[in-house]
Amino acid sequence: MEKKNLLGMTTEELKNFVQELGEKPFRGKQLFKWVNRGITDFEEMTDFSKALRAKLSSAAYVGSLKTLNVQKDTKDGTRKFLFGLEDGNAIESVFMQYKYGNSLCVSSQVGCKMGCRFCATALDGFTRNLTAGEMLEQIYAAERETGKEINHIVVMGMGEPFDNYENLTKFLRLLHDPEGKNMSYRNMTVSTSGIIPAIEKFAIDFPQVNLAISLHRLDNAGRSAIMPVNDAYPVDDLLAAAGRYTEKTGRRITFEYTLIKGENDNNSDVEMMKDKLSGMLCHVNLIPLNKVDETGFDGSTRKRAEEIAARLT
Ligand code: SF4
Repeated sequence: MEKKNLLGMTTEELKNFVQELGEKPFRGKQLFKWVNRGITDFEEMTDFSKALRAKLSSAAYVGSLKTLNVQKDTKDGTRKFLFGLEDGNAIESVFMQYKYGNSLCVSSQVGCKMGCRFCATALDGFTRNLTAGEMLEQIYAAERETGKEINHIVVMGMGEPFDNYENLTKFLRLLHDPEGKNMSYRNMTVSTSGIIPAIEKFAIDFPQVNLAISLHRLDNAGRSAIMPVNDAYPVDDLLAAAGRYTEKTGRRITFEYTLIKGENDNNSDVEMMKDKLSGMLCHVNLIPLNKVDETGFDGSTRKRAEEIAARLT
């Protein structure tokens, strides 16, 4: 029998799994708690008999991420992890410390289909969706590596989360499960490049989860030039959908705006931002681009970012 990875399975799925092994369903519930406490070794599951632990380890395993590399910023404690997946692919997650707690930026896909011109992930195209378990394990692996509890997540790493809607939403539910990590939906943020039908569905399915939209440009032709998704979902339609989202959920939206030198940081861009976002229930998050040599784009200077922030404020 092929061994099953138990991380990413719901309580119901684990109940079925233990029944296949000839065990009572309540063992599945116990297993869910252990797995979602980040425990990977069956020997540490102390309320199981020795015989059951042996049975489980011959039929299953818990998680499979390997830490391939860690880059640490000694000033603010940020750590960028490169995790290896079972099939040999690799993904990144970023651990950040704030006054309100610890946050992890989670990847949702290996690569990405969206093709944003300034993005390093887009350069290698799309390989595959991550499973709910692979998203969840980024959190447990980062907790093990840092020794700190993660109490916020942003799904803003590699990939377009709404292009992997089913696995994304399973992951959010698993993370929220009171028998598991029990993370509040309010501590979760999902970021999209602007897939309007998914935004509308998400407002119904997860009205308490925070939404971030990557805007990056406000003029239609200019946004299409750096974000092909804008051809399918033009920026003014996207802003209208964002407005409906805030009305429906009562939640403030975050607009991500990556500052690219000479591309979207001109005074005319700032004026358009003021004009189009004025009156909306939103935050604007200005992020100077990290230079990626292959794309030819560079980030705005710190000074320019501060000028833009002041003009917007
Ligand atoms: Fe990169 Fe995100 Fe655009 Fe995908 S959606 S290409 S990950 S910026």
